[in-house]
Amino acid sequence: MPCIFCQIIKKKIPTEIIYEDKKYIVFKDINPRAPIHVLIMPKKHIVSLAEAANKDKALISGLMWQAKILAEKLKIDKSGYKLILNCGREAGQIVGHIHLHLLGGGDYKNWGIYQHSKEGKILSKAFKI
Ligand code: 5GP
Ligand code: ZN
Repeated sequence: MPCIFCQIIKKKIPTEIIYEDKKYIVFKDINPRAPIHVLIMPKKHIVSLAEAANKDKALISGLMWQAKILAEKLKIDKSGYKLILNCGREAGQIVGHIHLHLLGGGDYKNWGIYQHSKEGKILSKAFKI
């Protein structure tokens, strides 16, 4: 089965992309677990942090810097934000294309427990981040 995130990167699936450059792309999570919930990833298909190769070191390290810059753009750098990277089956990684979750806005105690609308309104109980 083709990688769903690669399909988004190739613009084959309409998605709210909020940033992209030659190496990285950022788009909104389809099932937000916080008022702001975006996924930051390299365009290159790398399955997970565990499977990343030595030659991908700079690209993978750059994910963290992308998160920092993005948090500033989204104006959550002062209020605070959380970064999550699920790696592998037992961590609950669903999509096998490495990605960093950036969560912010509102009360962090509800993140991951409740699903939020774009405006930050609590919609329903949700799953893990
Ligand atoms: P993981 O558990 O692999 O770290 O997280 C995968 C994330 O991708 C989940 O939070 C899920 O909601 C999100 N996701 C899965 N499929 C799609 C999709 O087709 N579009 C978008 N925008 N997000 C998706
Ligand atoms: Zn992929």
